[in-house]
Amino acid sequence: MEPEEAKCEDCSSASCSARAKKDGESDSDFQERQALAQRLCGIKHKLLVLSGKGGVGKSTVAAALAVALSGAGRDVGLLDIDLHGPSIPRLLGLSDVRATGTGGSIDPVMAPGDLRVMSMGFLLPNKDDALIWRGPLKYSMIKQFLRDVEWGELDYLIVDSPPGTGDEPLSIGQLIEDADGVVLVTTPQALSTSDVRKSVNFARQLNLPVLGVIENMSGLSCPECGKRVDVFGAGGGKDMASDMGVPFLGSVPIDPLMVPAGDRGELAEYLSSDAPGALAFRSLIEKLIKLVESDVSARDAHVHGGTDV
Ligand code: ADP
Repeated sequence: MEPEEAKCEDCSSASCSARAKKDGESDSDFQERQALAQRLCGIKHKLLVLSGKGGVGKSTVAAALAVALSGAGRDVGLLDIDLHGPSIPRLLGLSDVRATGTGGSIDPVMAPGDLRVMSMGFLLPNKDDALIWRGPLKYSMIKQFLRDVEWGELDYLIVDSPPGTGDEPLSIGQLIEDADGVVLVTTPQALSTSDVRKSVNFARQLNLPVLGVIENMSGLSCPECGKRVDVFGAGGGKDMASDMGVPFLGSVPIDPLMVPAGDRGELAEYLSSDAPGALAFRSLIEKLIKLVESDVSARDAHVHGGTDV
């Protein structure tokens, strides 16, 4: 797809790396980089949601964050870069929607609350098709998602990345030079926390601030007797955050109502309910919004890490 014509000449940002051509960069590469920078300039806050392992609730957190922010009156985009296993369309009840576009640009799919969503799931001819791609193709697809989707002016872009430290998180970390930071999702057990430690180090290597850790699936209130059962243990995410010197945002319990809500594409409705998981999500997302929008720059937050936010 052809990049839009870049218009960086009037920009006053001294720090933007798209102001000047890099050594050895071709005219077309420079123009393309400027087009990407121009698109990202229209987005105030960029948050990446990462996890060490799959199945820990990362897509659920990303979707919950986007829904909560748009519910709080922000203009929000949600970009699903899990190219091989996109979950966002299903969670938001958009599985049968296909993206449209004209002249090289792609329109985001609109969800209630004017939430703008993009996912590989909207581009595959059939939702059960498998995508068999190596790194360079994934990098260029993620670049297109950022540059060619008509995001418009946004307060927030939330990016749901696949788990681990592979091509997709690396691509997005490199393409978005001024991300506010990453939100890490883990379950309490060592099998997950040991991998999310790698995500902390990954973020540090890419110079991405760690905004905080969310411990998901943290205990279950037995629906029969009300007794708490720590299916995956408890406190492992908080301990890991303290050990790694990064902020802890809070815990979300296992909530049996969340799974059918996600499967039916009714996660947004679930999140506005008084179910235990929904209440926990709302409280920690409120903390995160305060952290990102407070005067203290988010980039400083990770320096004071290791404590509850
Ligand atoms: P990931 O993106 O880490 O692979 P998902 O967000 O797709 O994980 O969640 C995996 C499954 O776990 C989904 O069915 C989701 O509804 C469910 N889930 C996530 N968090 C919770 C929770 N706190 N309680 C119950 N089910 C949850």
